[in-house]
Amino acid sequence: MRRKLAAGNWKMNGTAASLAELEALKALMPENAPDVLICPPAPLLFRANEAARATGIQIGAQDCHAQNSGAFTGDISAAMIADTGASHVIVGHSERREAYEEHDSDVRKKAKAAWAAGLTAVICIGESADNHSANNTLDIIAGQLAGSLPDGMTATNTVIAYEPIWAIGTGKVPTLEQIVEVHDFIRGKIISRFGAEIGDMIPLLYGGSVKPDNAAMIFKAENVDGALVGGASLKAADFAPIISALA
Ligand code: 13P
Repeated sequence: MRRKLAAGNWKMNGTAASLAELEALKALMPENAPDVLICPPAPLLFRANEAARATGIQIGAQDCHAQNSGAFTGDISAAMIADTGASHVIVGHSERREAYEEHDSDVRKKAKAAWAAGLTAVICIGESADNHSANNTLDIIAGQLAGSLPDGMTATNTVIAYEPIWAIGTGKVPTLEQIVEVHDFIRGKIISRFGAEIGDMIPLLYGGSVKPDNAAMIFKAENVDGALVGGASLKAADFAPIISALA
C-alpha cells in the first residue's frame, strides 16, 4: 500500500503567528488522517517543528541549495533544513524553475542533496499553459522525469508532485481524465526506470488549485496519492477538508 500524503506549501506567506494553524489543523483532522506535511517559509522551520511536535504533522522546506555549505549568500542547505527537525524539502517547484531559471539538472542536484541530508525530496514537475495547449504535456513530463529524478531513488526518499503550471493559483484544474492520464504516465515511467518495487511505492501528488470542493474528484484517480496544496493550505479550515477527502 502506498502512503497517502496531504502536503501544504505556504510559499512566501505566514509569520510566527501563522503557526497557530498547525494546532487548529490537528483539531480538525480526521482520526484516520493520511500523512500531513506543511512547508512554511524557511525562517519558521525551527518553530514550526516545535509547534508540530504534538500534532504528528510533518514539516518541510520549500527549496534547498545543492551544496552542503559555502559562500552562497542567502541560500540554505539541505543539512540546515534537516537540522531544524524537518523531514522533507520541495525541489523544482515551477515558481523556482521560472523565476530563478532552475533547470532539470539543478533540480536533480538538489534532490540528491536532500537525500544526503536524510530528507525526502518532493520533486515537482509540470507543463506550461503553452505546452498544455499544444498537447505536449506528456513529452514535457517525460523530459522532466528523465532530467530531474536522480539515479538512486528509493521507495521512501522521494515524492513526485505533478503541478501543471496553468493550474497553479488560477482556479483552473485539469479534468479527472487528464489527471488520470498524466499520473498513470508518470507511474509507468518510474516503474520502467526504477523497477516496480520502487516505482509502485513512490507517492504521486497532484498540485494546482486543489480546494475543498474539488479534492474528492482529484483523489478518485488511482495514481493520485495526495495533493500539494498552495493557497488552501494556509488556513486549517480550508486544508482540513482536503485532508479528510484523502483519508
Ligand atoms: P495553489 O494550490 O495555490 O494553486 O498552489 C499550488 C502549488 O503551487 C503548490 O506547490
